[in-house]
Amino acid sequence: MPSINEKQILRTLNTIKEPSSNKSVVELQMISGVVIKDGNVGFTIEIEPSKAQEMEPLRHACEEAIRHLPGVISATAVLTAERKATTGAQTHNTADNQQSRQTSVKELPNIKSVLAVASGKGGVGKSTVAANLALAFAANGSRVGVLDADIYGPSMPRMLGIAGRPQAGDDKKLRPLENYGVKCMSMGFLMEEDTPMIWRGPMVQGALEQMLHDVQWGELDILVVDMPPGTGDAQLTMAQRVPLAGAVIVSTPQDIALLDARKGLAMFQRVHVPVLGFIENMSYFLCPHCGDRSEIFSHGGAKTWAEKLDVPFLGELPLDIEIRETSDQGTPIVMSNPDSAHAQTFSAIAKNIYSRILNDEDTRTPPKIVTI
Ligand code: ADP
Repeated sequence: MPSINEKQILRTLNTIKEPSSNKSVVELQMISGVVIKDGNVGFTIEIEPSKAQEMEPLRHACEEAIRHLPGVISATAVLTAERKATTGAQTHNTADNQQSRQTSVKELPNIKSVLAVASGKGGVGKSTVAANLALAFAANGSRVGVLDADIYGPSMPRMLGIAGRPQAGDDKKLRPLENYGVKCMSMGFLMEEDTPMIWRGPMVQGALEQMLHDVQWGELDILVVDMPPGTGDAQLTMAQRVPLAGAVIVSTPQDIALLDARKGLAMFQRVHVPVLGFIENMSYFLCPHCGDRSEIFSHGGAKTWAEKLDVPFLGELPLDIEIRETSDQGTPIVMSNPDSAHAQTFSAIAKNIYSRILNDEDTRTPPKIVTI
């Protein structure tokens, strides 16, 4: 198949006119964030926030024009009002955000609920927890997908023992890869391997929309989104643009002490996504030789903070060699040693989350806003 490049895409989009000015969308500098990966194209069209409805036919025309180019497997165009949407932590007015969430979130009709697994910073075991929770949901009979949205270090395919690249079907939608009964798509599939990539806001949005809407997920009971760590604009955009039923925040005891996890809580609350609770990871160290327990990071911080902030505490997992080895080898503990104490902990947490997500009233009650 011929390959497609950004120049060809812009040349084609240059033939599409913005109706009110009759100038091309390229000339008006409305196009940005072009992402091309294996024939899958994503880009954003910058518009005035008030014109979203009016611009929908333009978005559609751009998408169609690109979709018909030789070498294109799928095309996704996203309308963005980037300037207004630079919803940095400082600008928030909750009413505005509630509104922008309502207007920007496109529902996913075949997916019953979407759960975000988030953390205030990297390296706390967020992906490990996401992988094990996904497997625990699947073990309970749910139809599960994992969307690896961690643009800084997409690790979900490796953790789930998945190799290869997704292929598109006749409908030009990508088929997720699957292992252990869990479907998986990763932002990593849109990135060149080993090439550090700087993600600009519109690119993140484009790639995320593509992963959500241009993938043949099939019917799912739950889609677990492994969020990028942190609470910056990329994370906030995701929290706003994905129809989340709820979020869980993974933290280490010292992470919560250092405010990061609490910032994560505040971020979800600002965009009215219910925080289902904190999970404390690397909570204490269990010596594999003598069974001795050492509380190296002042264990229990997340529980204490959960109580203070009126957020449920979902459970704790120790720093444990088996958790590390199994997740790094692509055989997470819930799958490889389901009877172990740690797998049982993941399983109990998953059941708790699942029952609360299904209980609509509970998750839709606006959370108490706390100022941190
Ligand atoms: P994050 O997604 O927060 O960046 P990862 O899930 O990638 O973190 O975990 C970082 C590293 O820590 C990985 O090597 C993982 O196997 C390891 N790890 C995560 N949780 C635990 C744990 N409870 N015990 C031991 N190692 C862990």
